Amino acid sequence: MVRLFISLYAGTLATLFAMLFVSHYISTYLIVDVDNQIDAQEFSAEVELLELLAPQLNFDEVANLLELIGKRNQLIITEVDLSNIPASIQAELAKQQVWYDDEQHNYFRAFEPTRYFMLSEDPDSKLLAVDSLTDWVFLTTLILTTALCCLGWLLLLKRKLQYLERATDRLSQGDLTARAPLSKRKAVGKLNSRFNEMAAEIERLISSHKQLTQTVAHELRTPLFRMQMQLEMLAAQSSDNQSKYILGLEDDIYQLQQLIDEILQFSKLERSQLRLEYKTFAINSFLNELCGSVNKEHQVNIKLLINTTTAEFCADEILLRRLLRNLLTNAIKYGDQQINLVIHQHEQQLTFIVEDDGPGIAVEQRNKIFEPFYRIDNHANQPIPGYGLGLAICKDIARLHQGQLTVDTSEQGGAAFCLTIPLNLKTRLGNK
Ligand code: ADP
Repeated sequence: MVRLFISLYAGTLATLFAMLFVSHYISTYLIVDVDNQIDAQEFSAEVELLELLAPQLNFDEVANLLELIGKRNQLIITEVDLSNIPASIQAELAKQQVWYDDEQHNYFRAFEPTRYFMLSEDPDSKLLAVDSLTDWVFLTTLILTTALCCLGWLLLLKRKLQYLERATDRLSQGDLTARAPLSKRKAVGKLNSRFNEMAAEIERLISSHKQLTQTVAHELRTPLFRMQMQLEMLAAQSSDNQSKYILGLEDDIYQLQQLIDEILQFSKLERSQLRLEYKTFAINSFLNELCGSVNKEHQVNIKLLINTTTAEFCADEILLRRLLRNLLTNAIKYGDQQINLVIHQHEQQLTFIVEDDGPGIAVEQRNKIFEPFYRIDNHANQPIPGYGLGLAICKDIARLHQGQLTVDTSEQGGAAFCLTIPLNLKTRLGNK
C-alpha cells in the first residue's frame, strides 16, 4: 500500500511539474509572451510621460522622478551603457521603447540624447515578498492536494480490493461458493465479475469430478460384494492349492473395498455443505480410550501427555477420532518404536501433536502429502500399503473444525503432525 502510494504520488507530481514546465517553455520560447508585452506597454506609458516632462525639469528632479517610478513598480532603475546591453535586446530597443522578457532582462530607453536604463526587481519590496510567498503557498497546496487525492483514490481502491481479497481467501480455503460483490461501489472494474466466472467454472469442474468419483466408487461396491460372496462359495469347494489363490483374491478385494470406503469418505468431507455433529466431550477420557484401542489393535504403547487445564472440548467426536487414529496409524506404519501423543493449550487453541521416530518427511514434501492420492516412494525396501488419502481426509476434518494440520520434525527426528483447533468452536459456530 505504502509503495503503491509513493509510486502513484511521485508519478502524478512528475506529470504536473512536466505540464507546468512545458507550458512555461511554450509561452516563453515558442510564442510571443503576451504578459511581458502588456507589462512593457504599461511601463512605456510612464516613460513617455517622463519624457514629456523632462524639458521642464532639472537633472535631479528627473532622477527623483525615475526613482519614484521605480518604487511604484517595485523596481530599481539603474542607468547603463548601451554596450552593456545584450546585442539582441539592443536591436529590440531600437524598435520599441521598453523591453521585458522572461529571463528578467528588462530595459528601456528615454530622453534626448538617448539614455539607457536597466530594470531589476527591488529586493526590499514588500509586495514582491508577498508575491513570492503566494507562489510558495500555491506550490505547497498543489503538492499537498495531490497527496490527498492520491491517498483518497488509493483508500477507495484498497477497500474495493478487500472485498475481492475476502472472496479469494474463502475460495482458497475450499469454499467453492465464494463470490465477489458486483455492485459498482464494491467492484474493481470488471475484475469481480471475471473472478466470479472463474469461481463458478472451478465449482462446476470440481463438483462434476467429485460426482464422477463418487458414482464410480458406489457402483463398484455391489460387484465387489458379489465377487466376495462367490469367492467364499468357491473356497468351500476348492483344494488346498486353489485356496491359496482364493485367499490372495480375497485380500485384493478387501483392499479395493477399503479404497472405495476412503474415496467415499473423502468426497463426503469435501462437500462444504456437510453438516457435522458437534458436541462437547471430556478430553481425558476421549484420548485415553483412543490410545487404548490403538495400542490394543496394533500391539504398541503410545505415550500420552495431556497439558491442558480445559476438561471439555467441542468437536465432531467421530471425525476427530478418525483424524487422530489416522495420524497414530501412520506413525505406527512409518515410525520405528516411540510414538507420542501430546496435547497442550495455548490461549484459545488446543494443539494435538502426534510424533514418531521414523524417517520423517522432507521439507519439500510437507505440503504435497496432504494432497489426495499423494504418496512418498522412499519406503521401497519395505513397501507400505496405503492409498494416499488418509492425510487428505485429516486435512479436511481439520478445516471443517476451523483448525489447521501441519507437519514438522519431531524431537526424535521423525514426523510431528500438529493439529490446532480453536477451543471456542462452539461459540464460533453459534455465531454463524
Ligand atoms: P497412506 O498412508 O495411505 O499412503 P496418507 O495420506 O496417510 O496415505 O500419507 C501420505 C504419505 O505421507 C504416505 O504415503 C507417507 O509416505 C507419508 N507419511 C504419512 N505419515 C507419515 C509419517 N508419520 N512418517 C513418515 N511419512 C509419513
